[in-house]
Amino acid sequence: MDSTLRALATGCKGFMDESEGLRLFELARESASLGPVLEVGSYCGKSAVYLGAGVQEAGGMLVCVDHHRGSEENQPGWEYHDAELGMLFIDGGHTHEAANNDYESWSGKVTPGGILAIHDLFPDPAEGGQAPIEIYRRAVASCDFDELATTGTLGVLRRGTG
Ligand code: MG
Repeated sequence: MDSTLRALATGCKGFMDESEGLRLFELARESASLGPVLEVGSYCGKSAVYLGAGVQEAGGMLVCVDHHRGSEENQPGWEYHDAELGMLFIDGGHTHEAANNDYESWSGKVTPGGILAIHDLFPDPAEGGQAPIEIYRRAVASCDFDELATTGTLGVLRRGTG
């Protein structure tokens, strides 16, 4: 990863370990040739820098969605029907409703072979909210995605091509 962008990312406010960010960078660089990379939930942009650095190296496109209003409601008027995504990174609202909404709205757009990454997986409920791991498990149970290695609390799945 470009050292200037890496310094920018580590200096940015946010809740992501560098190991998780570097994994996102590698996944985005690998997936961006399949289609646009979509991040749901950017906060101050830390993970967006990691994703953007990977997408830039691959010559692809990154779209970040965040209403920056501190509210869980979906914002009206934003539709994205046509594109198939090379990668989807879900790190938006962490309530059950918001996380399931993000999963239902976007996961079906991931192209075969593309990546679905979900932040803040906590297998032990004492360590964190359960909504992100709940949608991760939904994705596994759907049989549409294969599990790849997890980095920290970053879960990674690949949509099957069959
Ligand atoms: Mg997060």
